[in-house]
Amino acid sequence: MTKRLLALVLAFLLLTGCAGRPDWQETEFFAMDTVMKLRLYGTEEPTEVFGTVIRGISALENVLSVTKEESSVARLNRGEAVTPSEDLRILLEKSIALSERTDGCLDPTIYPLVKLWGFTTGEYRVPEETEVQNALKIIGSQYISFENDMISLKNGTQLDFGAVAKGYAAEVCAKMIREAGCSGILTLGGNIQTVGEKPDGSDWRVGITDPEQPDESIAALSLQGSHAVVTSGGYQRYFEENGVRYSHIIDPATGYPAQTGLSSVTIVADSGFLADGLSTALYVMGLEAATEFWRDSDDFEMVLITQEGEIHVSEGLSSRFSCEKEYQVIEK
Ligand code: AMP
Ligand code: MG
Repeated sequence: MTKRLLALVLAFLLLTGCAGRPDWQETEFFAMDTVMKLRLYGTEEPTEVFGTVIRGISALENVLSVTKEESSVARLNRGEAVTPSEDLRILLEKSIALSERTDGCLDPTIYPLVKLWGFTTGEYRVPEETEVQNALKIIGSQYISFENDMISLKNGTQLDFGAVAKGYAAEVCAKMIREAGCSGILTLGGNIQTVGEKPDGSDWRVGITDPEQPDESIAALSLQGSHAVVTSGGYQRYFEENGVRYSHIIDPATGYPAQTGLSSVTIVADSGFLADGLSTALYVMGLEAATEFWRDSDDFEMVLITQEGEIHVSEGLSSRFSCEKEYQVIEK
């Protein structure tokens, strides 16, 4: 590059404000048991939007947490009747509907089983067969009762929104970011939510974690506009006993951690709730049933990675998917 050209490029960068100064602002915070990150574009004064989003997530956590003693869900789980907030009612109705749609693979009343395997306390153990059978008896959306604007749980069943809460929160926050006139990207643990377009029009790049090396990405998606990208994987939380890996995603049909040959499921959808709920449900289904389910649907795309390392990408994503490894495209 000649000196003159170099001077011109430098002058352009200074004038446009791009000389090392990013066109985004970022904050990191801890909520819902995970580190969350919010990057905003299109605002010089992000503090207010950051505050709105953090307060929004914290308000949801105060309703949905199974461990916060005064949350509505904790109270329901102790057998109390509760007047639900609007979010709790929406989340319950959506979860029951998605449970039906997925033939029970997603089940919002899974908590007795999650506890039995020690996933709430970290005191993991393989329960006795009779304990699993007893827990199975009190699981199912039919035990959620809606009466006179109150909700209660029958038969000792208990709620756990762990499979959908972050996705729902991302969806709620996306609305707040849009209303503030910004675009951005929100990372809630394994859940990514893009909002709007980047000011320079470039794609959002979202990595897909390598289940064998969770610090690395195995593939990437290039997306435009607002999308939820959610991954469920056995590698995210598990324990091992006698050489068997038991993951935190439980098959409500058997009461045992799902072992269907998948190591991760990534869902891309417009709705964060749907992406999160389906990532869990399709992990329980396994490759074949998940493929059939996708063929019968038109509201999401997916990337499935098997324990053998095969990568399967639904055709609606294939032009937005990049991966150095070989992969197969699933067609309708
Ligand atoms: P995710 O990481 O979104 O797949 O959600 C997993 C979390 O959801 C677990 O840690 C449990 O709290 C809960 N969970 C496990 N299995 C199920 C299931 N089959 N249906 C609904 N929630 C589940
Ligand atoms: Mg999920």
